[in-house]
Amino acid sequence: MTTRVALIAHDMKKDEIVTLAGEFADTLAQCSLVATGTTGGRIAAAHGLEVERKLSGPHGGDLQIGAELAEGRVDMVIFLRDPMTPQPHEPDINALVRACDVHNVPCATNIATARMILDDLRLRFAWAS
Ligand code: PGA
Repeated sequence: MTTRVALIAHDMKKDEIVTLAGEFADTLAQCSLVATGTTGGRIAAAHGLEVERKLSGPHGGDLQIGAELAEGRVDMVIFLRDPMTPQPHEPDINALVRACDVHNVPCATNIATARMILDDLRLRFAWAS
């Protein structure tokens, strides 16, 4: 079954997630990708990856991804949060991270953990091939 990866980044972290997606483009191309609206648009435009785009985060995109995750349809989450800027949709952000903990879904909220998760995924794909 295809690995489904959710990608989300707050505005101050969008350049970082675009760079990260470029580093792991070969791995991500083997996954089913879902993202909040703006993040997904940036990644698709930069790397030509196919990304299912939900609503923008402040308009409910985090909740949409959280709902999918609660139904068992998301395998991992890369969520580069901006810890320095208050977000209008803080409750939605907390709901998504909580859903990851409830359902035991790996969730990287910073770039170092995101790299570890994607390195692991890359290795698993290499072993499987
Ligand atoms: P965005 O949403 O990708 O649409 O900017 C991310 C967020 O703010 O949660």
